[in-house]
Amino acid sequence: MKKKIKCPNCMTIHIVKGVPNQQINVKCPSCGNIGNFTFEGNISKQSIHSNKMVVLRNVSKRYKQLLALNNVSFEINRGEVFGYIGPNGAGKTTTIKIMIDLISKNSGEVYINGISIPEGKNKVHGLIGYLPQDVGFQKWRTVDHALMTFGRLSGLDKNTTSKKINEILNWMNLGHIRHKKIIKLSGGMVQKIGLAQALLHNPKLLILDEPLAGLDPEGRFFIKELIKKLSSNGTTVFFSSHILSDVKDLATKICILDLGRIVKIGNFDELHSEFTSENHLEVVLSKNTGKWSKINNIKGVKKIIEKKPNEFIIHIDRSIDNDEIIHKIISEFLKNNCHIRSVNILTPSLDEIYQYYLTKGESKP
Ligand code: ATP
Repeated sequence: MKKKIKCPNCMTIHIVKGVPNQQINVKCPSCGNIGNFTFEGNISKQSIHSNKMVVLRNVSKRYKQLLALNNVSFEINRGEVFGYIGPNGAGKTTTIKIMIDLISKNSGEVYINGISIPEGKNKVHGLIGYLPQDVGFQKWRTVDHALMTFGRLSGLDKNTTSKKINEILNWMNLGHIRHKKIIKLSGGMVQKIGLAQALLHNPKLLILDEPLAGLDPEGRFFIKELIKKLSSNGTTVFFSSHILSDVKDLATKICILDLGRIVKIGNFDELHSEFTSENHLEVVLSKNTGKWSKINNIKGVKKIIEKKPNEFIIHIDRSIDNDEIIHKIISEFLKNNCHIRSVNILTPSLDEIYQYYLTKGESKP
């Protein structure tokens, strides 16, 4: 199929070719701007969106001279936990603000629960719970007063709001602070109340802008457990974060954004598999006879590095069955009278993978 597209940078119109649902890299013939473009599917909109809570297609946003989002496309299935990561200024908050119609996009399509935004925003308003980057509570209010105001703004009546405040604060083990003033709470507590505010009307989609920022380890653990509970109850969660270990713990799909462009989307294993073609096995021996060189001959073993005396990192081809090869390696050590203290499969951190995708160069103009 052929499609006329407008470059989000210089607004020149040009024609691209592709097949339905295909994502292509496009370079504007006029200004050289590089971006992705996703072709529409050839099935009905209803069936495209039936399992999708969020669909963004070729969304661009410009702040005067700055192209903050450049043809951003992604989809979030119902019940998914979507981790949105990228350096400062990548465009994460801008994306979120467009999703909830706090700001308008310049081009592209946004669907929440199959409904086009901004046109159908009133229909999806009640589905979304939103935690902004800086929760703006008035500090002289009590928690109860602040939550009451937000509940009423979400369209709940006074009695229902009061019951929901009770229910949610108890569920979050925060019942004891209901009548405390916001000014008396720590930053972490205010963040938790911000999340309570987003949950008051039982949203089906939670959009959280850096929910874990500034929290101590206990606070992060607390919010992560809540996100896991909500997700297991079927709530779709979109969250942005700079704390990549938390993103790895929580997200079923990870999206890396850089300079307004999507660099990579996938689950951790998909991101990992492009990052390295090897698995690394760490073996620590408590007795080393030195007679293990035949391990080099096992099919799939690429190399053995002796990190320290008695500690080995064995590089294994990812295409070979892990269980089988680990069994062979251990058998070879044991056959040669070595004693094993521990065996670990090492996985790279999301930080390493993230750096790899950011420096790969695909996202740079
Ligand atoms: P951070 O991780 O620091 O929160 P981010 O990924 O959320 O960053 P955005 O806040 O979306 O990034 O900003 C994307 C770019 O758009 C940045 O260069 C920012 O300076 C710019 N920007 C954001 N809001 C505006 C605005 N209202 N007017 C002009 N430029 C803006």
